[in-house]
Amino acid sequence: MNKHEHQLHHLHHDENGFIGYCPQCSSIHLAFGVAMSAMEHEAFTLWYQKVVDEYHAFQHKICPHAKHFVFETDSPNIRMVFNWKELHQLIHLIEPGLMVLEARRIINASY
Ligand SMILES: [Zn+2]
Repeated sequence: MNKHEHQLHHLHHDENGFIGYCPQCSSIHLAFGVAMSAMEHEAFTLWYQKVVDEYHAFQHKICPHAKHFVFETDSPNIRMVFNWKELHQLIHLIEPGLMVLEARRIINASY
């Protein structure tokens, strides 16, 4: 990600956080709880797929409050840890944001 002042376009928010997009560097910015992360779109897509896979793999198989799920971030020193309930909230925050992003890309080819 090149150095610049991100021009965050709001995609979606709820009581847990928000998701935004910088068209200048194609990065996704995710705030959830007390953490905020910025990832290039492709890296974010791969990261999010892991979240969804883990969410489905452990549905009804783990205590929803156990902090079991650890995910890398853009910083080597910071990882995010979630329980299953938080993964559920995370997906419900991200999914509508990605739909808004996709819709904007269809409407505006330069987005
Ligand atoms: Zn940017």
